[in-house]
Amino acid sequence: MWSRGAMAASVHFHTCPLCEATCGLEISVADGRVQRIRGDQEDVFSRGFICPKGSTLKQLHEDPDRLRAPQLRRNGAHVDTTWTDAFAVIDQRLRAIIAEHGPNSVGVYLGNPNVHHLAGVFWIRPILRALGTRNIFTASTVDQMPRHVSTGLMYGNPNAFVVPDLDRTDYLLMLGANPYVSNGSLATAPDWPGRLEAIRARGGRIVVVDPRRTRTAEAADEHLPIRPGTDALLLCAMANVIAADGLVDTGTVGEHLNGLDQALAAVGEFTPEAVAGATGIDAATIRRLAHELSAAGRAAVYGRVGVHTVPGGTVASWATDLLNVITGNLDRPGGAMWGQGAHSRRSPARGGGRGYRIGRWASRVSGYPEVNGELPVAALAEEIETDGPEQIRALITVGGNPVLSTPHSDRLAAALSGLEFMVSVDPYLNETTRHADVVLPVPSALERSHYDAAFYNQALRRVANYSPALFATDQPSESDILAVLALILRGDGADADPSIIANELLDDVLTHAVGDPNSNVNGRDVEELRAAVTGETGPDRLVDALVRTGPFGDGFGADPNGLSLQRMIDNPHGIDFGPLEPQLPGILRTPSGKVEMAPAEIVAALPALLATAAGPQSDGLRLIGRRDLRSNNSWMHNVNVLVKGKERCTLQINPADAAARDLATGDVATVESRVGKVDAPIEVTDEVMAGVVCLPHGWGHDAPGTRLSIAGQRPGVNSNVLTDGAVLDPISGNATLNGIPVTVCRA
Ligand code: SF4
Repeated sequence: MWSRGAMAASVHFHTCPLCEATCGLEISVADGRVQRIRGDQEDVFSRGFICPKGSTLKQLHEDPDRLRAPQLRRNGAHVDTTWTDAFAVIDQRLRAIIAEHGPNSVGVYLGNPNVHHLAGVFWIRPILRALGTRNIFTASTVDQMPRHVSTGLMYGNPNAFVVPDLDRTDYLLMLGANPYVSNGSLATAPDWPGRLEAIRARGGRIVVVDPRRTRTAEAADEHLPIRPGTDALLLCAMANVIAADGLVDTGTVGEHLNGLDQALAAVGEFTPEAVAGATGIDAATIRRLAHELSAAGRAAVYGRVGVHTVPGGTVASWATDLLNVITGNLDRPGGAMWGQGAHSRRSPARGGGRGYRIGRWASRVSGYPEVNGELPVAALAEEIETDGPEQIRALITVGGNPVLSTPHSDRLAAALSGLEFMVSVDPYLNETTRHADVVLPVPSALERSHYDAAFYNQALRRVANYSPALFATDQPSESDILAVLALILRGDGADADPSIIANELLDDVLTHAVGDPNSNVNGRDVEELRAAVTGETGPDRLVDALVRTGPFGDGFGADPNGLSLQRMIDNPHGIDFGPLEPQLPGILRTPSGKVEMAPAEIVAALPALLATAAGPQSDGLRLIGRRDLRSNNSWMHNVNVLVKGKERCTLQINPADAAARDLATGDVATVESRVGKVDAPIEVTDEVMAGVVCLPHGWGHDAPGTRLSIAGQRPGVNSNVLTDGAVLDPISGNATLNGIPVTVCRA
C-alpha cells in the first residue's frame, strides 16, 4: 500500500476496470472510505486522464442496491440466503437437469464485464469445460464478433486485432466509432480525445464516416454522413479505386500475404459509381478518400460498432484491414499494428498455426453456425422457447444484462421466465437477474486486484500495471465463486475447495512455459516454478506466472530486470515497455504462415453485398444507436451523478423528418419496427442525417422485481425492443443494431 498523510488516510493507485481505456486512478481513502478519485497524473499510459465514470467506483462500491448476500427466489421474490445454501441449491437443481437432459440443456450467457477482470478472463473456461454445452452465448455477438471472425480468418487468431497506431499516424479514417464518448473499443488507449487532437496538432488529418455528427465527427477535419449499414460498400469501393488506379503498395509486408490478387479481383465491381447511391457518398468523394489514404505517409483505417453491428459487418471488418494492407500500413508504425501484452505468450508461430474455423456446429432451431465456440445471442430466446431434445432448460449468466442489451429483448425476457432453473453471477438484481432462481453477488471493483489481461493485448503501447485490492470483503472472491460453480458442474460438490481450480490454471501456464522452445525459464520444471510463484490470491499468482514467463518477464530470476508481480507492485503507476513494434510473421496462426487476404467466407459474401447497392434504396427511416460518456451499455444507470440532468434517452430525428411528421422536441413519438414498439421523447437535431433516427441503448429500467432504485426513477426506453433477432450478419452471427427499418409517428 502506498500512503501519505495522516495515519488513517492513504492514497492508492488503481487501474480503472470499467471500460477498455485502462486509465490510472488516484484514490484517496480515509476512515475506511473513499474520499476522492481522480486521474493518476503519473500513470505511464493515461497521464492523468479520467472520464466521468472513473470517479464513480466509489458510488458503485457504496451503492446500497449492490447485493452483498446471495439471493434465492422464493414465491417470486428474492431473499437473502447463505453461500452454503445457495451453492447447495445450484448443485441439486442444475445437476438434476443435466442428468436428465444432457449438458446442452444448460445455456451460458457471458456479459461484457467478464473481460474487465481477471476472474472473468480466466475462471470462466473451467466452467465451460466442466459443463460441455454447445449453447454458449456472449456479448461478442452483440457488437464485435465480425472483428473476431475477419481477424481469425486473415491472421489465424480471432483475438489478434490490429489497432490504429494513433500516436504516430498522420491520417486516420474512422468509421462508425465515437471514441470521444466510448473512450475507444478494440483498441485500448486512455485519452482518445487527446491522442486524436495530437494527430491534428502535428499536421495530420482525421476523417470520420458516420450517419450522425458525433462529438468525434465534430472534432475531425472532415465528417462524411453515410447511410447506416453501407460502410462495407464504401470500404470495398475505396479498395477498388486504389487497385484500379495502380496505387497498391503493400510496403514491407508483401512477402507475408496470400491471395491479395484474389481479394482485389473480388472488389472489382465495387466501383464508386456502383455504391454511391446506397452509401449516400458521391463517387468523386469516394475516389478522393481513396487517393488521400494512399498518399498519406502513415495512415490507419479503423471501424467499430456502427460498422460491425450490421449484416455486412464481417465484410466491413475485412475491408478495413484490406485497405490497411494495400496502402502499406499493416504492421507499420503509424499504421495498423498488433498490441503485445506483458502476459502474452513468448513463442512466435513456427511454420504456421492451426488456423481458424467457423461453423463447427450449428444452433438447434435456426441452424446458425458456431463462431468462436459460441452461438449468436439473438438465438438464445428461441433455444429456450422451442421444445425438443437439447432445448435450453437452465441458464447460467455471468455479468451482463441481455434483457436490455440483446436483440428482441421482450421475447428474451419472456423466455427467461419460462426456464426451469437460472443462476446468475452478478452484483445487481437487474432486468435479467430478476429471473434467476439464485443470484451470486461478486465483490466491488475496489475489493479485488486488477491487471488488464484482456486489453493490454490490444493496447497502443506495451504497458503493464497491477493494482492491489483497496478493501477487504467478507464476500467470496469472484474467482472462488466461479471455481465452485465449475467444481459443482464437475460433480465435486458444493463444498469443494475453489483453490483446486486456481492451482490447475496456474499449472496450465507453467506447463506451457516449460514446454515452450523460446521459454525463459531455463530448463526448470513446473514444480520448481510453482514454488517460486508469488501472490496472495489465485488471480494474483496467475498474473505473476504469466508476466514472468511473458515477453518482458524475469523468467523466475533468469533476468533480474525482467517483469514480475513484485516489480509491478513496486511501480504503482505502471511500467511502459514502449510503442508497438512490428510482429509479422510471428503473430500469425494461419496454416500457411501468411496473412490470408481472400478468405473464402468473405469472398463468397461479396456478390450479395454488391447486390444491396443495386436498384432504388428505401426512403423509410433507419434506426441507429448511440453511446453516452456517462453510460456503460446497460449498467451504471444506478449512479445518480451519472444519470442526473437532462433526459438522455431521447429519439434524435432530423428536422426534415420531424417536420414531415409534425413532431417537435419534447413530443413523445411511437417508434415501431418489425418486432416491437416503444414510446420515446423526441429530440429534433441536425446531428443525424435525414432518413436516420437515433436512440441510445441500455435503458428501459422499468421492470418489476429489480433492485435499482436510482435507475428506476429515470428508466428510459429499451432500444432492443426494436432490434430484430432474425436479421444477423450471416458470417459472424452478430446482431443487427444499426440500420433497423422503423416508422415514427406521434404517440
Ligand atoms: S475512460 Fe474508461 S477506463 Fe478511463 S476513467 Fe473512464 S471508464 Fe475508466
